[in-house]
Amino acid sequence: MAVAEIIVDVPTMQTNRPFEYSIPETLTDVVVPGMRVEVPFGRGKRQIQGFVMAVKEESNFKGKLKPITRVIDLRPVLSKEMLDLSYWLADQTYSFQISCLQTMLPSVMRAKYQQFVIPKADTPEVKKLLRGQTQLEITNQLSDEEIRLINKLRKNQQVDISYVVKNKAQQVKRQAVTTDLNQIQLLEAKNALRSNAKAQIKLLDFLANHLNDLPIEMNVLEKDYEIGRSAIKTAEKNQLLKIIEVTKLRKPVGIDAKKTTKLQLTAEQKVAVDQISTAITQQHPETFLIEGVTGSGKTEVYLQTIEKALQVGKNALMLVPEISLTPQMVNRVVGRFGDQVAVLHSGLSSGERYDEWTRIEKGEVKVVVGARSAVFAPLGKIGLIIIDEEHEASYKQDDNPRYNARDVALWRSKVNKCPVVLGSATPSLESRARAEKGVYHLIRMTKRINNQNLPHVEIVDMRDAENSAVKGDFSPALQAALQKTLDKHDQAIVLLNRRGYSSFMMCRECGFVLKCPNCDVSLTYHKDLGKMKCHYCGHEEPVPNSCPNCRSKKIGFYGTGTQNIEQQLNALFPKARVLRMDVDTTRRKGAHAKILQKFGSHQADILLGTQMIAKGLDFPDVTLVGVINADTTLSLADFRASERTFQLLTQVSGRAGRADKTGHVVIQTYNPDHYAIKDAAKQDYETFFKQEMYIRHQANYTPYYFTTLISVANKDEGQTLKQSYWLKRQLQSSLSKDAILLGPSPTMISRKQNKYYYQIIVKYKHEPKLHQKLLEILNETQADAKKGFTIAIDNEPQHID
Ligand code: ADP
Ligand code: ZN
Ligand code: ZN
Repeated sequence: MAVAEIIVDVPTMQTNRPFEYSIPETLTDVVVPGMRVEVPFGRGKRQIQGFVMAVKEESNFKGKLKPITRVIDLRPVLSKEMLDLSYWLADQTYSFQISCLQTMLPSVMRAKYQQFVIPKADTPEVKKLLRGQTQLEITNQLSDEEIRLINKLRKNQQVDISYVVKNKAQQVKRQAVTTDLNQIQLLEAKNALRSNAKAQIKLLDFLANHLNDLPIEMNVLEKDYEIGRSAIKTAEKNQLLKIIEVTKLRKPVGIDAKKTTKLQLTAEQKVAVDQISTAITQQHPETFLIEGVTGSGKTEVYLQTIEKALQVGKNALMLVPEISLTPQMVNRVVGRFGDQVAVLHSGLSSGERYDEWTRIEKGEVKVVVGARSAVFAPLGKIGLIIIDEEHEASYKQDDNPRYNARDVALWRSKVNKCPVVLGSATPSLESRARAEKGVYHLIRMTKRINNQNLPHVEIVDMRDAENSAVKGDFSPALQAALQKTLDKHDQAIVLLNRRGYSSFMMCRECGFVLKCPNCDVSLTYHKDLGKMKCHYCGHEEPVPNSCPNCRSKKIGFYGTGTQNIEQQLNALFPKARVLRMDVDTTRRKGAHAKILQKFGSHQADILLGTQMIAKGLDFPDVTLVGVINADTTLSLADFRASERTFQLLTQVSGRAGRADKTGHVVIQTYNPDHYAIKDAAKQDYETFFKQEMYIRHQANYTPYYFTTLISVANKDEGQTLKQSYWLKRQLQSSLSKDAILLGPSPTMISRKQNKYYYQIIVKYKHEPKLHQKLLEILNETQADAKKGFTIAIDNEPQHID
């Protein structure tokens, strides 16, 4: 009798090894590795989910095995590569293997029963199975016999299995616009119009430039391009376009992806492309680090090496920090490789994500572009993995499993025997240090395309009398630079350096700050909702109109938010058109892309925003970048504060003067002599690297030491401390004298959701016993879980408070 090894959905460390179950006779040819099944667990009648990891002929177990109850999937949802990866991932991240397995699947597939059998042929067997329905929902009501039949029909390609009700989605009819005219005819019709027919001109212009994207849904035209129905109707009357019915089109990729062709490489680009291409052809799992100044043409290197991979019959995986923030990068990849690209990002609905995942799994695409979790894409035959902006903290997941997509990429590169390319203008110190040691192969690109000058950077010392005298946040120098830019009809970007800006309520009479009752943080004022909200536990309450402490009416809302800066800009430059990009203006799906599209087509003069505007944008008309407060990231209580500041300032400065115009950058700061700011102003990564390495060396930090952060939480602060000291003693007993143990100390926000958090930091060079010890500690703490302890182990954390 066949036996299956199954990882069950019971989150304890003990269950991180597979359990054996027998496969009932009726399911022998059905159950295969990578499939989910339901199995009995424990003594009662409890049924739980599990992943089949392996199938074998017999068991070494002497007793009687329990049988699998039923299958959940009718085809494997994870490949052998992914199953293998889950062992490594669970071990590396100290997490439950079951949560690693689940993380690899798109969210719709994490639900138990959401699959449908969809007919592909009209045979009697299929008809009988569907019993007159258009599709059959797979539930636990199906008999083994039916499951076997479905399985057989699927193998014969008479039915398909899908997780979303495709047919329903396809039934949605939408009105869309298309035209029989060509570009010249459209432009002629446009030129024949009078200048007061603005809406018509815009519509015809759009059609002439988007012929490849037609038909396009009317509501997309309305929402994303502000082209109204009346304009469309008028054009229809004039026989310039046709309105047709289409089934709802899913178009995850921005439709602005213009077809691009290969560029003639510069000397530096050629060196990079040649070296990487050799590794692709030789199937050499080597890691390249491209350290290329902003505007040195890294993207073209990515594109031409992807092309190389496709030429030798392989596929390519490309990770970007966050797609909604980097639509231009995605468009450039889609523009080059068209339909061969699948895009995975958080802006997609779960159905759309599943659609893209399925296309990848079926082998219909050759290139995958996506954010962090795309590193688990079911792409076969990987010949190249690219990680753009490799220094970005968003590649590390903050939650279980706490994996770093960069490490997962390196694992997959070894299995697939392919190179990995890490690219950045400001590589993380870890990666750059590895290149120094020869672990990674360093490729430097030091010249901007067309020998474009680096921007002229002006550092404004806000401590100067002249600057400290101004009301508001704009120094005379920045005001003058903005005025000059507006006079020339160029564009400017203004950066407010804040991490997810928040504004809090404070009483001007007694100094009372409104705080969350459950957490040790102030509540954030949400103007649009008219509420005070806690960002940690979700607690919300109405905005008070008097001080809860002293009843004074003199309450104010503080924190220089983008809204406040926007008001200042409007007052200083009443004629300038300002676009604001922050959490409030980008909540709606597709809002980022829309703001960027508007700015890119010069429908605004100034783009104001937080960190989210600093990434990978390439606008030819931007000649000025202003940074309001360079110091915010510097003051973070994190050993990476200088690195983060340098990265942000370098990236955002790189936004100025990208085309044939030299850029100007104004950085306002209270720390004008800080090396992170001075080196960023010169776009001098190498000098920064040396200085920062020296400081890390002095302070025994990454990359000289490995770091592991362990945090313990409990509702009782005394218990938390006690447990922390126990943990520290445990660690001490297994570490050598070279390791450094810090803490326990309360975390920066020491109380969240009524739990107290304490942390211990281990810094070490070589501690062969540490990993095993941590697993043991995890095990024991989980046994204590009933007492309300939670523990988190974070290898190489991205943030240490
Ligand atoms: P990076 O990603 O290194 O900041 P980009 O890839 O955005 O730089 O390139 C900067 C600009 O130079 C882009 O507009 C790009 O189209 C252009 N470019 C890149 N390579 C070449 C080339 N070989 N010839 C001409 N233009 C190029
Ligand atoms: Zn709270
Ligand atoms: Zn008060």
